[in-house]
Amino acid sequence: MTDFAVKGWCPGALRPMVSGDGLVLRIRPRLAELTADQMRGIAEAALVHGNGIVELTARANVQLRGVTEASHAPLLAALDRLGLLDPDAQSESHRNVVLTPFWHGAEVEKLARDLYAALRKGPDLPGKFGFALDLGPERLLAGTSADIRIEAGRKGLILRADGAVGGQAVSAAEAVPLALEMAEWFLATGGAPGGRGRMAAHLARAVLPFDASQAPAPLAPTPVPGPRGDGCLIGFEFGILRAEVLAALADLAPMARVTPWRMLWLNCPSVAAQPGLITAGDDPRLRVFACTGAPGCPQALQATRGLARRLAPEVPVGKVLHVSGCGKGCAHPGRADLTLSATPRGFALLPQGRAGELGPVLAPADITFETLRKAL
Ligand code: SF4
Repeated sequence: MTDFAVKGWCPGALRPMVSGDGLVLRIRPRLAELTADQMRGIAEAALVHGNGIVELTARANVQLRGVTEASHAPLLAALDRLGLLDPDAQSESHRNVVLTPFWHGAEVEKLARDLYAALRKGPDLPGKFGFALDLGPERLLAGTSADIRIEAGRKGLILRADGAVGGQAVSAAEAVPLALEMAEWFLATGGAPGGRGRMAAHLARAVLPFDASQAPAPLAPTPVPGPRGDGCLIGFEFGILRAEVLAALADLAPMARVTPWRMLWLNCPSVAAQPGLITAGDDPRLRVFACTGAPGCPQALQATRGLARRLAPEVPVGKVLHVSGCGKGCAHPGRADLTLSATPRGFALLPQGRAGELGPVLAPADITFETLRKAL
């Protein structure tokens, strides 16, 4: 039994979600890209129509909070003027695609646009069902939630069902039609009873009728802030930035790419360190994950971010601490070196665990550096 509601869908701009601090809206930038004008426009919209907070999500979306019923329509109009709105809520929810932020080239762009077009007319997949286009020189999105992956194999492009060890070799022209065929197979074979379901869980029960013999390319480590290609990666504590910070970044870079790692890649050589930015790869704040928690999330059993901020300096290099406001684990759905999962009485202490599991419970004030040293 869970102590939280599983909604089975992600918010969009046209279909926001109610949270403790108002409506939450998610913008899905096409090609993972935002122009400087779009960054400025989002910043202004967040200030005028929301609470001024901009969040980067684990699916490389941009989230605005604190929107009201009254400010939703003018916010949509602003996003539409910026070219950031889909024609309708169904097209928006179908376009659930994460693209590696370091993509380049006309072939990758065409593949992404072909996938968007195919999904618009495609089957009604579960709200959380998504696609990853891991098409950069390195494979980087294996840790990002997706159900069907078009990615680099050892000898070329492969199409891989999430949960399968290998995939099917495909040409760029075949990749999108076959990905849709795989999605149709998922639905036709009962992958989404009641409209919910994920590919990896389905593969435990069903035999995939696609070749899965081609190994994916080796997995590259998760990028860290610093120079990258002809730009630089900038991180943000818990993936949150103030609208004013986003507007300031737009003055430095003509374009940004949204990443699934709580960072922006900016098309400029560097950004000077300043409050609110993580510019160094060894910053301890990169080692902690914490969801909105109380009071922002109505399902939260405890506040999260103050505790995560307090503990961050003691998280050893190479380790990850996850502080979750309930058993849902939104900020880090997988296992972490240490997960603190909120309960009504405090936090369950879960070494190598995930949110929602059972463990000894400590009150927040009793969780100290010593607690961390023993558990990590
Ligand atoms: S994990 Fe955090 S953000 Fe997600 S539902 Fe629970 S309290 Fe809310």
